[in-house]
Amino acid sequence: MDEFTFIDTIKQNSYRQPSLVKGIGDDAAVFRQHTMDIVTAVDTFVEGIHFRKDTMSPYHVGYRALAANISDLAAMGAHPAFYLASIVIPRHWSSQEVQYIFQGMKRIATYYGMDLIGGDTVSGSELVLSITVMGYVAKEQVRYRSHAEAGDVVFVTGTLGDSQAGYHILTNSMEYKNAAYFIERHRTPTPRVAFATSIPGNIRVALNDVSDGIANEAAEIATASKVSIQLHDDVIPVHSSFSQFSQEDQQRWKYFGGEDFELIGTIAPKNWSILAALAKQLNLRITQIGKVFFEANQNYVYIQKGNRQSERLLKEGYNHLK
Ligand code: ADP
Ligand code: MG
Repeated sequence: MDEFTFIDTIKQNSYRQPSLVKGIGDDAAVFRQHTMDIVTAVDTFVEGIHFRKDTMSPYHVGYRALAANISDLAAMGAHPAFYLASIVIPRHWSSQEVQYIFQGMKRIATYYGMDLIGGDTVSGSELVLSITVMGYVAKEQVRYRSHAEAGDVVFVTGTLGDSQAGYHILTNSMEYKNAAYFIERHRTPTPRVAFATSIPGNIRVALNDVSDGIANEAAEIATASKVSIQLHDDVIPVHSSFSQFSQEDQQRWKYFGGEDFELIGTIAPKNWSILAALAKQLNLRITQIGKVFFEANQNYVYIQKGNRQSERLLKEGYNHLK
């Protein structure tokens, strides 16, 4: 299949977003916006680094790559609207497999009412998928990492470590409890868009999505907000079957595992009940896991385990240039 036939197959027949003026088919896409702030992000996924063909089908590669991008929009409090997909296709990927990647993206895009409005298609030596997303948020209501203040409570949605548990199950064949649940969390994660976009605009929250693990995401909030954060190990939410994995794996996955695409954030204690009510309406678990406080000249994350003294939680998440 040549490049142009291929583009025809992935092109939407119609678009959902009212602001779209021109989608696929010219040198660039066009959309028009008067009233909202536009939020945009790009993420790149490389075969062998971000996914492996033996644990992710092409459909899941597409689904999860777009889910990760949508999660970035959620962490800004934005409504997803558009995506552009740039793909490097190697010889060892069939055109059918590439179609499945786009089907995976289309599946989650449809759920969020997003339109595919452009991209690029080239050949190369390994599969690389780079997705750009765009979303909207009401003017000046973006949720920054720098919004945390001393006295805030720290919260996290859902349960942590599930994605890494799923990956472990896929790569270590044994009998596991709730294997399907963990595998699904790994392959088709749910970005917390509904939750993030329903927080009333006049309420201050700091938000960050859990892509690298909460040790890293909490540190990013602490640094951006110039505060320190105290977390409590015994309240970090995990799935009821998480205890089947070794203590060491549990600890590593819940702090450094990442890719759960949950949200970690902070909010003033007086507004906690609003957040808790919202989460309940959405049937989403939300847990207070710590507190924000001020320390002169340093912005650290601490973890308290059992009745041991609090210690610093270092960011040991995946760092590509390390
Ligand atoms: P140009 O040569 O102007 O860059 P292309 O031939 O690369 O144009 O692309 C033609 C149209 O198809 C453009 O609208 C482009 O955004 C879109 N397109 C190309 N590749 C993809 C892709 N992988 N996903 C979505 N749209 C794509
Ligand atoms: Mg091009």
